[in-house]
Amino acid sequence: MSEEAMIWDLSQLVESTEPAFIQKILDSMVAETQKIREQYHGKIESLNAKGVLDLLELRDAFSLRFEGVTKYCSLMYAANSTDDVAKQLNEAVRRATMNVNQALAFVDLELGKLVAAKPTLINDTVLSEYRHYLERLLRRVPHMLSETEEQLIIVKDKNGINAWEQLQSDWLSTRMFTIEVDGEMKTLPYGAIIGFYQSPNRDLRKRAYQTVYEGLGKDDIVWASAIRAVCEDHTRMCERRKWQTPMTQSLIDNDVDEEAIDSLMKTIEKNANLYQTYLRLKAKLMGLPKLANYDLMAPLPKAPSTTYSWTDSRREITTAYQEFDEQIGSWIDDMYTKRHLDGEIRKGKTSGAFCASWLSGKSAYVLQSFNGRITDVYTQAHELGHAIHDYLLSRKQKPINCEVGSCAAETGSIFGELLLTERLLKSSKTNEEKQAILAIILDEFGAAAFQVSARVFLEQKIYDSIKEGRFLDGETIAKLWVEARTRICGDAVDWLDEMKWEWTKTPHYYFANYRFYNYPYVFAQLYVYALYRLYKEEGKSFTPKLKALLSAGSSKSPRELAAELGYDITSEEFWQKAMKQTEEFLNMLEESLS
Ligand SMILES: [Zn+2]
Repeated sequence: MSEEAMIWDLSQLVESTEPAFIQKILDSMVAETQKIREQYHGKIESLNAKGVLDLLELRDAFSLRFEGVTKYCSLMYAANSTDDVAKQLNEAVRRATMNVNQALAFVDLELGKLVAAKPTLINDTVLSEYRHYLERLLRRVPHMLSETEEQLIIVKDKNGINAWEQLQSDWLSTRMFTIEVDGEMKTLPYGAIIGFYQSPNRDLRKRAYQTVYEGLGKDDIVWASAIRAVCEDHTRMCERRKWQTPMTQSLIDNDVDEEAIDSLMKTIEKNANLYQTYLRLKAKLMGLPKLANYDLMAPLPKAPSTTYSWTDSRREITTAYQEFDEQIGSWIDDMYTKRHLDGEIRKGKTSGAFCASWLSGKSAYVLQSFNGRITDVYTQAHELGHAIHDYLLSRKQKPINCEVGSCAAETGSIFGELLLTERLLKSSKTNEEKQAILAIILDEFGAAAFQVSARVFLEQKIYDSIKEGRFLDGETIAKLWVEARTRICGDAVDWLDEMKWEWTKTPHYYFANYRFYNYPYVFAQLYVYALYRLYKEEGKSFTPKLKALLSAGSSKSPRELAAELGYDITSEEFWQKAMKQTEEFLNMLEESLS
């Protein structure tokens, strides 16, 4: 396979890649929003159902028309931020998008008022494809303040909670840590030293954690002040905006309800022993009496160091998806054939991996840095699962329904990882290979479902403490964190003392106006594991059901979608399905030991 196959072809997104041509299209995009504004501003509240339909279809058509050009600019920059043309186009697209968003912000505001005044509009058959979108808009209306108040909040937040969020992030990224590696002293920033967390060298892992958290703990006054400011501000906003609990805002954003999250978290706590069983098993596989916190994400010592070429990866992933469904398999193949993946490692390329939808092209683009490790193959399968979600959505839904909330957005991607697991387990020849695969999948599930749950518990405790009038200094938060962690890990892990400062670096506690963004990770993992379990139980007849669920996008809530499969996400029975699957993986791991 040629090198070229690993580099994506973005030219398909645009009619011409000439920068002057692209700038012209961006200018016309901004000009177009002015026309929409002139036509609709101040008039939405008097529209009838057909009028609302025309408006929403106009906005959807607008976003599709300019999608190719805007994606071209941002993806080109993600692939190489040192390229001068990419820099210039990225700046141009950011400016244009900001102007568009500002100019069209009135649509949702006015539409919200209209549906609040005439809720029957939501169920008008003319608007059936926009029903759930309008329902979600209506759910926000009671919490909106007057225009002056909203503007004042934006102004005050800039130097209030936004500044605290910025301080936490800047403080973390500018700390330097000194550590000895192979007899050499190195002074590294946070982003670099955490690279040692997954080193096969246990002593190095231990020292890396110790150095980081000893350092972070020294600044507890900064971290605690930031958390207090952000959380107390939120408590005040809950009163003003009539959010019933500190979680209400995030429930509305994520299109879920408190009952579902309650039973999700109860299921987690009831099954913490299952996770602890895994941790004890992993200790055994590592030849240790007990895991220390610095072993949690470590690779198994006997894991085979297989490397995968781009062609190997393509073959394994395509086959994995094909075994689930022919059509999905052919779309995966389409992604490679059309060169919609960028795997090449190059300077200036953004770190991490993502999938960007291309709805008007009924496809998607995937970026990652492919090193040929098994974890890179997993990342590729994950991002391609997002791509499949886009293939299905773009064929069935209005663009607005293709924006899926964080609880359901990972459905295609995590499911894809499970399909890959199935494939790799089937073709693995030794017990060591099997164990390495199972450890990858269980480590990830353990981190995203169980460890993140401890964060959810801490966040709840922080708001309870504020309500009780307790003063949250660093040591108090550290104590709450250790309690939350114990609810999940019991006594299955030995923690370094310094680990009580783990909460200091987690950005989710500090994001301004973005509270309770931990449980969606837990939700996503269990939702997909439960669906995968149903697939295992029902076999091939489940395939069309999953495709229908993915195709629905945000036109229905996750609760409605599960109900169509006969399950109630507010009951623990549904979430328990996910645990059944975890148990199955655990049994496989246990068997491989005997
Ligand atoms: Zn993802």
